[in-house]
Amino acid sequence: MSSGTYVQSVVDALCQLSSHDVLTGLPNRRSFSQAMDRELDRVARSGDVALLLMVDIDHFKHVNDTYGHLAGDDVLRQVALRLLDCVRPMDTVARYGGEEFAVVLPNCSYTYGEMVAERIRHSIEDNPLFLKNGQQLSLTVSVGGAYAPQWIRSEAAIWTERADRQLYRAKREGRNRVCLEETIDTVVSAEEKELLFGGLNLGMYEARPSAQDGNGQTIHS
Ligand code: GH3
Ligand code: MG
Ligand code: MG
Repeated sequence: MSSGTYVQSVVDALCQLSSHDVLTGLPNRRSFSQAMDRELDRVARSGDVALLLMVDIDHFKHVNDTYGHLAGDDVLRQVALRLLDCVRPMDTVARYGGEEFAVVLPNCSYTYGEMVAERIRHSIEDNPLFLKNGQQLSLTVSVGGAYAPQWIRSEAAIWTERADRQLYRAKREGRNRVCLEETIDTVVSAEEKELLFGGLNLGMYEARPSAQDGNGQTIHS
């Protein structure tokens, strides 16, 4: 191997290490943020519909407590593979942290979004996992999702917060369920309106502002 090829292989290995989660091999949170930024750019330019899903394993602490941390690690790897099986090659599945995964789905209609979120939930609920000792384990996941606002250059943090809110709703309502945010028009946040109209001094909009309540629903004055 020439020294140039060797250096390149070291650089490639370092890039892989810094952008991927060692346990599951999925993109890590840092590279997922970059994927979200790219998608937000695209959505702002094309008006495309993109969905962010947050997927959290229910009662995962119980798995560690009952079967041990190594078995827990094995479960995380298996769940990662299940998620990859549920999505298209163009979608990005990442390990967001701990027992939480995130998926960004470009060009995702509302019907497809619901379908894929339910497919993910079912793929875990309907098929037990097998631990290395042969033991069978039934698991469920909760899924929260939000669409990126079309034609607006939003921010990854706002998008994530919305999807997270839905995930907490799914947990609160009993787990093993999918909660997706309502359609975009009703949930454009004040921050995103600022991103859209901030640069424009449009007096006519001041006469009839739209505000938001704590649930992201638009309240018209
Ligand atoms: P909930 O249904 O509310 O999500 O409950 P939960 O038990 O899944 O959530 P909680 O936040 O209470 O516990 C998450 C657990 O995930 C605790 C932590 O030890 C475990 N965990 C996080 N990262 C890893 C990991 O890399 N490997 C293993 N084995 N466990 C992990
Ligand atoms: Mg959990
Ligand atoms: Mg969690």
